[in-house]
Formats: sequence, C-alpha cells, structure tokens
Amino acid sequence: MAIQDTTRMVSERIRDVEINPYEMMLQQLDMVREYTDIPDNIWQILRKPERTLEVSIPLTRDDGNVEVLTGYRVQYNSSRGPCKGGIRFHPGVTPEEVKALAGWMTWKCAVVNIPYGGGKGGICCDPSRLSRTELERLTRRYTAMIYPLIGTRRDIPAPDVNTNAQVMNWIVDTVQFLSGESNPGIVTGKSIEVGGALGRHEATGRGVMFATLGVLQRLGIDVEGASVAIQGFGNVGSIAARLLAEEGAKIIGISDVSGAHHCPSGFDMKQVLAYVSTSPGHLLAGLPHPGTEEISNDDLLTLDVDVLIPAALEAQITARNAGDVKARVIVEGANGPTTPEADLILGERGVTIVPDILANAGGVVCSYFEWVQNIQCFPWEEEETNQRLGRILQRALREVWTLAEERDISLRLAAFILGVERVATAIQLRGIFP
Ligand code: GLU
Repeated sequence: MAIQDTTRMVSERIRDVEINPYEMMLQQLDMVREYTDIPDNIWQILRKPERTLEVSIPLTRDDGNVEVLTGYRVQYNSSRGPCKGGIRFHPGVTPEEVKALAGWMTWKCAVVNIPYGGGKGGICCDPSRLSRTELERLTRRYTAMIYPLIGTRRDIPAPDVNTNAQVMNWIVDTVQFLSGESNPGIVTGKSIEVGGALGRHEATGRGVMFATLGVLQRLGIDVEGASVAIQGFGNVGSIAARLLAEEGAKIIGISDVSGAHHCPSGFDMKQVLAYVSTSPGHLLAGLPHPGTEEISNDDLLTLDVDVLIPAALEAQITARNAGDVKARVIVEGANGPTTPEADLILGERGVTIVPDILANAGGVVCSYFEWVQNIQCFPWEEEETNQRLGRILQRALREVWTLAEERDISLRLAAFILGVERVATAIQLRGIFP
C-alpha cells in the first residue's frame, strides 16, 4: 500500500489521542486489523484488558499523617502464559495509562515469542517526595493489596519507571510473609542475592543497544562515530548510552527530568556515569562536562543525529514536534514514546523507527530468564544470559524486518502484526470459556 493511502486511512481515524495512552494503544492495534484475517469476535477480546484492579493504599508518612494513594494492576491478556509486566511509581499514573502499558506488554512478549501474556501495575505518587521507609511501606501495602492477583504462574511484576531491585525485594519479601513460602519467581528484577538474574539490571539497555546495532547494520550506517541523542537517563537510557558508546557511537545529547545537555564532540560516558552515581537523586543537573551546553527537552528530541533514543515516558514525539525531528533512526527505549500521528509524519519523512515492543523487550526477555532460573532453582552465568538475550532479540528483529520488507510496511506495523496474530491464535486455539 502506498504511504499516502495509509496516511489518509489512518488520519481519518486519528482523534485527539496525544494525552490518552490507551486510545493510542488501541489506534496502533486497529491499524493492524486490515493486514490480518483475525475474526471480529477475537478483535473484541484483543481490544480490552482481561482484568483491572484499583486499590486505595493508606500510607503513613514519617510525620504520622496518613495519605491515601491509588494503585492499579491490569492483566491485559493471559492467553500465551501468565501476565508479565512492571510496576511504575509516577504522578502521571492513570488507569488508562496502566491499561495501555499492559496491552503493550502483551504484544511485546508475543513479538519476542516468550511464553507470557501482558500486565502492568502502578501507583500514582511522586517517589522523589517519599523517604526510603515511606517507599517501603507503600510498596508492601500495595503488594498486599494486589496479592490476590499476582503469582508465579498467574501474574509476575517487575521494575518499571521509578521502581528498582530494592522495590522488587520488598515485594518478594512481603509475598513470602503473606504466603508462608519462599517464592522468588513471583517477581523479577530482584537483587542477585534474593534470586535476581545476573544481567537483568542491564538487560533493557542492552536490548536497546542490540536493536540499534541491528538496524544500523541493515541501513548501512556505521556505528563507529554514529551520533546518538538519548531522552531519559534512568535504567534504560544510561545503560544504552554506555553500551553504545562502547560500540563506538558518539553520544551527543542526554537528558533527564532535571534538563537536557548537548555535547557536539560526544560525551565521555564514564565521566557522566560517575557523576550521576553520586549526584542528588542521581540526576544530570549540574553535570560538569567540558564542551557542553544546556538545551531544552524539545531541542534534544530535534537534534541532528543518526539515532534518537526516547527512553523516558510515553507521548514525547507528537504531531507538534515530529516534523522537526532530524534523526534518521528512532529506537524506542520507552513504552509508547511516539503518538500514532507523529508515527505517520516520521514515516512519510523516511525515518526508521524500531518500535518499543521490540526495541525495549530486552528487559522482559531477561525477566523471563530470571523466572525460569527461579522455578528451576538453578542460576545461570551472566554470559549465558547475554548470549540468549542477543539470540532472542536478533531473531525477533529479523522476523519483524522481513515482514516489513515483504509487505512494504513500517517496523511498528510488522511488529504489531506478528505479536497480535500470535495472541489471537492462542485465544482461538483455547476457545472461549465456558
Ligand atoms: N517494565 C519493563 C517493560 O516495560 C520490564 C517488564 C518485565 O520485565 O516484566 O518491558
């Protein structure tokens, strides 16, 4: 199909979705429809989460006051296996956002072909305002409240925005006290000492690096000296930056919530990482780096680079700024960073986008390895993890790339077709209960 036809068809469907991630996810899903033979009955199932839980979490602050926060756990689809997906602590968490993220987890696990469905959780809160003890109480109470839903063979949480191995350790510990059993496979992304997998901490960033190398090679762009801008310097962005710099790429733009920084000659990543390891809140603010200027977030997204890696939150590249993006390749480290409208604008301008459900799947693939190790009580060497991770992601990229070429479609559409068809097939083969 010609680009213009696709543009027209999709534009007709696009409403104002810039601020509703669930609508955004549904629009991406609906674009797949005409490329597949999935029957209408199955489409109805694919467009809805299986189960949504909302919980009110009373948090006793350190000063004795009680604040009641709202949390969620959404199980989007479990046809291919137990639900899988992270837990995010962020002031922007809404039921619509968690549903969208749970949907993306479903297609993500399917496109990389690991035996999981998709889920997601979140608490609407600002963790930067909470002490460590408050965070621990919040996590434990939330865990107790979603406890009826989670389980090693039911729904397995993991880290996401503003949650980390420590939060996962509190979850596994709370579950152990509630159930009376050691059950490390109920959550992934734990510290190594409590059953975490070697390599899991770096896995999402490593996957972004694999995806970037894979696509640059296919486009005939040499990674040596390729310029890269990265939005978000958390677990995904900072590790992708380090690994890509080790491969010879020149990281010229980095940012986090405290601001964006531009260094045309390329950042010394060792120096930047050393700085954030001790800076307040591990933020880039005040970064002492020669040849650097502070720029705006929008400037960072529109830097003239070979590769742009949005690794922060959803809906960052929108109809408003997509026309100004100069990158040749976008590798989506975050979930849902590009709105469907922006996707079209970028597609027409020939920008290659490695979609989130493929580009950032390294984390969940390694979570799968952690879960397998927990179930078998048999830890692997880190080398084995990284090799298997590379194999799975390279296979998925190959499959998505081939489909995109065969059908002359974007990588996002190809990844969605592969993932959604796999989920639809599982639903059909199981049949509908009762
Ligand atoms: N939060 C990560 C993601 O969005 C990892 C999920 C997991 O490991 O289950 O893919």
